[in-house]
This record gives sequence, structure tokens and C-alpha cells, in this order.
Amino acid sequence: MRTRPVIPDAYCVDPGFAKSFAQLRDRFFMRDAGHWPVFADPSLAHVVAQRKRHLPRQERIAAYPDGRRLLARLRAADRIPETSASPSSPDPLLLFAAALSKNWEDPACVENVITTPSDPAIVGTMVGVLANANLVFSEYAELASELEALVIRQIANLVGYDPARATGIFTQGGTFCNLYGYLLGIRKSLPLSREYGLEHGQDYRIINSHGGHYSNVTNLSLLGVNLRRKTIRIHITANNDMDLVDLERQLRACIQLNCVVPTIMLTMGTTDTFGVDQVSPVVEIRDRLYEEAGIAVKPHIHVDSAIGWPMIFFLDYDFEANPLRINAAAMSGLRNHARLFRQLRLADSFTVDFHKWGHVPYTSSLIMIRDGADLKALEHDPENFGYFDKDVEGHTHLHSTIECSRSATGVFGAYAALHHLGAAGYRRLLAHDLQNAAYFRHRLKQVPGVKLAAEQNQGPSVGFRIYDPALVGDAEAEFAAEIACVGADTDERRNRNSLYHRELFKRRGKVGLYTNWIESLAYSSYDHRGGYHRIPGEKAVFMSPHTGYGHIDAFLATLRG
Ligand SMILES: *Cc1c(COP(=O)(O)O)cnc(C)c1O
Repeated sequence: MRTRPVIPDAYCVDPGFAKSFAQLRDRFFMRDAGHWPVFADPSLAHVVAQRKRHLPRQERIAAYPDGRRLLARLRAADRIPETSASPSSPDPLLLFAAALSKNWEDPACVENVITTPSDPAIVGTMVGVLANANLVFSEYAELASELEALVIRQIANLVGYDPARATGIFTQGGTFCNLYGYLLGIRKSLPLSREYGLEHGQDYRIINSHGGHYSNVTNLSLLGVNLRRKTIRIHITANNDMDLVDLERQLRACIQLNCVVPTIMLTMGTTDTFGVDQVSPVVEIRDRLYEEAGIAVKPHIHVDSAIGWPMIFFLDYDFEANPLRINAAAMSGLRNHARLFRQLRLADSFTVDFHKWGHVPYTSSLIMIRDGADLKALEHDPENFGYFDKDVEGHTHLHSTIECSRSATGVFGAYAALHHLGAAGYRRLLAHDLQNAAYFRHRLKQVPGVKLAAEQNQGPSVGFRIYDPALVGDAEAEFAAEIACVGADTDERRNRNSLYHRELFKRRGKVGLYTNWIESLAYSSYDHRGGYHRIPGEKAVFMSPHTGYGHIDAFLATLRG
């Protein structure tokens, strides 16, 4: 029998924390009809009961009542039924598909920045579905647009924006929020682009980070930006944050060449390694260079904080008194994140994905804009909006939004989650996740041949690489050599190491934690032409209130297969 490893004090979960966290989880994440009576509905109760079984993927179909036959039907059906179906008998296929969709309630599910929604957010979303408000236009939304404005004020206050001046738009997802971020800069600095497109008039460059999410790139392509010639991807440091020296050099070159820089896209919390860009020095560099050059319209700074935004719940946390009794291991990372996320209020706009670390159902995304007047630049000619009554145009940003129909369910879900969990509830959730992540790092570091990536970032994501002990004596040194690309056979060695880890990962199967494989765990140093190699590896993201040290221990027991 395996005995539990001795846990150093810094990594122990305080009993007081554990108790209040368990209460939070029981009330807000258990789909308990005692707390949330809607879950007693027979269809919902069936789906919930099936999803609580947490069986391995390959066993689920056989374990579901009539599962094999239902699967065959699901795959073969291709006609809309001719006759109506009675409301009294729920469609078994509907329930089957819901029960056996990816189970984010399973504590082993740590694959990506995807979370299980909280009970209040599910109930709030359902209430919003009943109202079916359309935020495109105030007349089609009525009080739903007031609720949207309320959530925007709450987030504005939390981050440190002036709520009277700030605004925001709930939209399709973090990708769209980032699209708005780019567009705000483009329309402010190249106003003619609305009518004539981007290639009219002045030359320009868009600036983003090499460590950014892929939407930072795909959105540009969508906007018609020449990715090869008109996009500058700033180099990143070993922590995956933006290299400020490279940024200043590139920005200076743009100014010298009379090239407009509409937007600088930063990231706070990269998807794989939780790299966090600093906003303050970027604002300082931008303001200094543009003031020196006497250019009035400065680049719009948008921060992609799709995952990272909930760190703003810690901006005012009393780190000295530590009332929640968060353990020392998680506290050191949190302190540093609070320092960085305090800078978010300096951004011109930022992305909030409630459906990620906010535990709200899909999709619930909000772009926050520091100065509501910026949306003026996005307005299209009212002539295009002929079928809306001009007198009723309210505060729904009708002429500025990218979408027409805009669902309000995300607003209802987000509002309910914020209301029921409260700021302290969010702090507990994040602290729990970061305690898990810190414990996982601590355990991994004790395994010979394991190297953690971007360990300093101390976010919810833990990326690592496992080396063959027969070939690699010192994992730190081997990783450093892979990063530096020194030696004649670097490609061969990196590939050999990656293959070893990949085989191990596949052979191990899924026990304790369902980690996943990523191609860009880390990047090698840049060569003189800016070229680099991606270094693959394995990652786990701790965002589940259901995951605990026991799951981590079970995973580690089978780490090497
Ligand atoms: C998930 C993610 C996005 C995209 O957001 P969606 O809501 O999935 O469209 C953008 N940036 C980062 C850093 C993300 O993690």
C-alpha cells in the first residue's frame, strides 16, 4: 500500500480553509436540489445523476441505460420526426447526449482552461433563457440591458475603472472581446478604415505578443490585416510575458517610419503557462514615445485577460492578515498576481470570460472599455440601421456592436454567479485552485527527470516535461540546453526527449488527473533572425472545485507508467 507523502507546512491546506471551502462547494457546485430546487426536475435530475458517476470515458456508454442502442440511434438518425412528441416524455437522446457530454464536474478533468459552471450561474442562465432578451437594442431587452450595465459597473469598480466613464459589451466569447480590442484601436487611429478598409492611406502595424492566444492572430486575419507584413509579434521572456526591450524597439521604429500603431494587444494569463504581461511599463513606454514624437492618437492597449481576470478579486485582499487562511505556497503567487493585476485598470480595454475561471455557462464574455467614448469610433452610419426606431435608441451601443442579435443569457449567468458566490467566494475558489497547482508543482519537483515550465508564474496551469533518466542526468540542464539551442545535435535531442515523454504520456493512460499534451509548453531562445523552436510537454490546469490533493497523489503514483 502507498502511504501519503509528508506535506510541508507551506503546502498544507488549513483546516479552517478546508471547512469553508467544502461548504462553498456543497452549496454552489453539487447540483443539489436541496439548495437549488430546479435540479429536482426529472430530466435534470437524471442528467445530474448520470454525470455524478465519473466513470472513465471508455466505460460510460456501456454503463448508461441502453447506452449502446442510444449511441447507434444518435449516429444514424437523420430525419425530423413527422409527428409531435408529447411533453410528458423527455427525449432519451437529448438526455443521453447531455449526460455523456464531456464531464467537467469530474475531479480528474484538468485538461484546459475549461471549468464546471456553478449552480447559481446555471440557474441564473436558465432564468435569462426564459426572458430571452436580445441586447442588440434596448427595446428588445428592456431591463436585461440594465442588468448588463450593472454587471459592467461591478467589474469596473472591481478593477479600478471609473464606473461612470467605463462601459462594456457582453459578446460571443473571448475571441470577440479581443476582436473588439483590435477594432477599437483601428477605428480610433485610422478612422477612414471603416469606409475604405485598412489598406487605404497610412501605413500601420498591429502589435501583439508572441505568447498570445491564437485568437490574437486569427482575428487579425479576419480584419483583413496582412499577417506577414503588418503584424509585429513581440518576443517573450522565459516567463512568457512580453519582452519590453523588444516592444520599445519596435514601437520606436514604427514611429520613426511614420507607421500608425492602432493596437497593442497584451495578455494577462496565457492559456498554457499563465504568463502575465505588465501593463504599467507598456503604458509608460507608449506615452513617453508618443509624447516625444508629438503624436496625439496613441495605440489602444487591449489586455486579453480571458482567463486571468478573476485575479482582480484579490486586488484588495489583506495579505498580511490573510483572513481566508490561504496556505503560504499559494499566497506567494497570489501576492505577485495582485501586484500585476492592479495594473489592469491602466488598460484601455480588457477581456473577461465568465465561462472560464468565472464558473458561468457558455458563453458569457464581456469586453470592458475604460472610456465609453471610445465606442464612438466604432459607430456605423445610422442609415444602415433603418429598421430600428430612431427615437428608442438607448444605451445598447446599437451602432457600435459587431453582432446584431446579442444574447443576454451570459449577463444573467454572470450576475447570478457574482451575487451568490460573492467576492470572498471567488477568492476561495481561486485560492483552492492555486493551492492545488502549488502542491502539484511541489510533488512534481521531487520526481527525478521532471522539469517544470515557467514555474515562477504560479498560475493555475502547470506545464512540465519528463526526461528519460537513462539518457538525461540533469533535467534542469537538459531543458536549459533545449531553450538555448546549444550544441550540434539540438534538434535531434529535443525530438528524442519529446518522443520519450510523449510515449510515456500515451502509455500511462488516464489516472487521477486527465492531463493533456501541448505543442508549445515553452519556446527556445530566438535566433538572430527571430526564429525559434517550440518545446512540447504535458499540462494540467487546476480550475475545478472538485479536484483535491488525493487526485494529484493518484496521478503521481502512475506518472512513469
Ligand atoms: C480562451 C482564451 C481566449 C478565447 O476565448 P473564447 O471565449 O474561447 O473565445 C482568448 N485568450 C485567452 C488567453 C484564452 O485563454
